[in-house]
Amino acid sequence: RWAYVNGRYLPHRQAAVHVEDRGFQFADGVYEVVTLLDGRFADLDGHMERLGRSLSELRMDWPAAPRVVTMIARELVRRNGVRNGSLYIQVTRGVAPRDFKFPASVSATLVMTVKRVTAFAKPEQLEKGVAVVTVPDIRWGRCDIKTVGLLAPVLAKQQAAESGAYEAWLIDPDGTVTEGSSSNAWIVTQDGVLVTRAPSQKILNGITRLSLLRLAGERGIPVEERSFTVEEALAAREAFVSSAGTFALPVTRIDGKPVGEGKPGPVTRTLRQAYLDYVAAGVPS
Ligand code: PLP
Repeated sequence: RWAYVNGRYLPHRQAAVHVEDRGFQFADGVYEVVTLLDGRFADLDGHMERLGRSLSELRMDWPAAPRVVTMIARELVRRNGVRNGSLYIQVTRGVAPRDFKFPASVSATLVMTVKRVTAFAKPEQLEKGVAVVTVPDIRWGRCDIKTVGLLAPVLAKQQAAESGAYEAWLIDPDGTVTEGSSSNAWIVTQDGVLVTRAPSQKILNGITRLSLLRLAGERGIPVEERSFTVEEALAAREAFVSSAGTFALPVTRIDGKPVGEGKPGPVTRTLRQAYLDYVAAGVPS
């Protein structure tokens, strides 16, 4: 297994960054996760575009031209011989003596790893749906930036795991669902309207989310980008989460209570398949 660190392809075991890397000390960096399906990157352009946005919000430069970063990604996937899996790209501000201010001159640290995935969802998760638990959203004010500062989501996901749930839905102080700890949150109302929160600094605008919105539109599914509460989700026909690794995964329980009739629904199934078909129709990596 191979990793990429700052210009070099290394055996994964030996891949390391310096103890004074600002990613390590300050979580001063950003990342992307891109899924590989049958030898094709899912939404690579969208993920690269968002990486550029995250970098610019933190006033960081690309570690190399976007086209070069993409080339390295393809080469790393090739070296690992992975056709189904996920690519992790991380850019941190670089290595400098510990000081909060930006270092005067520093070059960014670029790290990439590839992981093989045998099944993106267990058959049982698709047949029965997954459970989520709700936790207060205690994250910072710029959740639109995909930073490696992930302590709140780590704690939320751990709490979900300890409750036997798959994901944690984060609850805004105003009582609405912001998103999952590592996914966007969706419902399908009793009127058949697909609802997911509008992009803002309170959520990460998922690349999968954007593709699902487009695919839903193409299929004539009515869409509303707005906030919803847990009560509305429980009264909905369907609920699901989306992310690079889950596509659209049905949610059938929230805090132990059933969503609608407690079964995965047709809109979730249709959108999941639509996403897989869309990726399969793309060019091989
Ligand atoms: N929201 C959060 C907080 C996330 O961490 C993620 C992905 O990890 C998402 C949403 C989904 O984004 P994407 O579809 O780009 O993977």
